[in-house]
Amino acid sequence: MNDLMSQLDPATWSDVESIRAIFRQRRQSFEPELRDLARRALEESPDESLRIDAVNLLASAAVVSGDDDEGSRLFRLALEDTWGTGSHAERVACVNLAMILSRQRRLFEAFAISRRACRLAFASGDPLAICLAHAQLAKMLLELGDMPGFERAVEAAESSRPEIDENVAGWVPHLLAGLRAEVAIQHGDLDAAQEAVDEALDGPDVIREVVDMMRATHLRRVGRPDEALVVLRVALDAGTDESSYRIRFQAEELLCLVDLGDVAAARERAADCLAEMVRLGARCGSPTWRMRVGETVGMALAREEGTRGEARRALEIAAVAALERSWESKLFFQEFPQLARMEPEDVAVLEAHGERFAEKHRELLGAIRALLLEGARFETPIAECASDELFVAVCAWCNSLRGPERVWIPLDEFAQPTPDLEVTHGICHSCTAAMAAHGGGVPGAPRRRAEASEVA
Ligand SMILES: [Zn+2]
Repeated sequence: MNDLMSQLDPATWSDVESIRAIFRQRRQSFEPELRDLARRALEESPDESLRIDAVNLLASAAVVSGDDDEGSRLFRLALEDTWGTGSHAERVACVNLAMILSRQRRLFEAFAISRRACRLAFASGDPLAICLAHAQLAKMLLELGDMPGFERAVEAAESSRPEIDENVAGWVPHLLAGLRAEVAIQHGDLDAAQEAVDEALDGPDVIREVVDMMRATHLRRVGRPDEALVVLRVALDAGTDESSYRIRFQAEELLCLVDLGDVAAARERAADCLAEMVRLGARCGSPTWRMRVGETVGMALAREEGTRGEARRALEIAAVAALERSWESKLFFQEFPQLARMEPEDVAVLEAHGERFAEKHRELLGAIRALLLEGARFETPIAECASDELFVAVCAWCNSLRGPERVWIPLDEFAQPTPDLEVTHGICHSCTAAMAAHGGGVPGAPRRRAEASEVA
């Protein structure tokens, strides 16, 4: 590389193609000299496309050194100048930014950028690029719960399956097998699912927790929850320091117990899960995961009078997670500068997903209202495990938030939520008044005025 560099004359930046060739060949090496050259090109070169290549290279280096925020900032910068050009630089920025955003759990943005990456990959005709872009999109659609979209993305990834160089991309077949297993389960084809799971787990570098988790999930979903329980209990006994895995094993165990109809054991496991979810807060899985587990835990605890307070707390966690997702879609539309240039088709898909999470939030509020009317109280005040400024009360009837000075404000006027938002649900003054005026009947709420007012 130094030989190549010594032939250059960066002072004039006239030999753009040679510099670009070095950037391309050495992209993955991240040598300090290469980064210096990129930094100088960014500041000094009059050639715009060379500057964009330099930004992409610096962004990749930031990501490799573990700085996702800086990587995200630089890839965005590159995308600002390349969006819609269909260039190689745009593709690099899109693919990488989508991966960072999905790690940061910014699902809506990641999804929009990922759709763009798929289009660019198709235009490039490069099978590996098409395959990876669609595999990435598929994972996001799964998280969004869009099963038809998920299957289409997996099909596109499979049909462009490239000739794999084992040394460079040996993990790709395992990734595809994992996606295929998901599709097979959706279609009830259990043999195909088993085969695909075995293939997915046949990788050399798969860690034990991932294997155990995937096996257990698979067994439960093919109707063998008793066998899944064995796998999970061995995994839990083996112990894991990684608490995010511990809670996932426990949640999976809860699902098995619910399937087996073991109400007492399910309730006990649900209580463990709730304690862990309260302790971990927003660090406890993605919002979609928290929404699903919180709902399962809540439903398992809501059956008995003695645990309805805990049920309410679990459903609150689920409701906040659903809200986080629908908020995320609103913020996305406000903040993403490329939105005006997005395909109308993608905008429509995003809006539909945002609305689905909003709908789920309303559904969870319904369950919380029912528990509030039954007088369900969570015995350990949430305020004890959250500082005051992160503690927010929401009216379960009109969805207003109790802001400073105990004033209730509509949700839409509330600023961006913090990731550690702790929420409890109650009833606001105007809903209490409306309830009284209607003789205890608020639209969409059961009539039991006395108990409802009590939780205000
Ligand atoms: Zn209200």
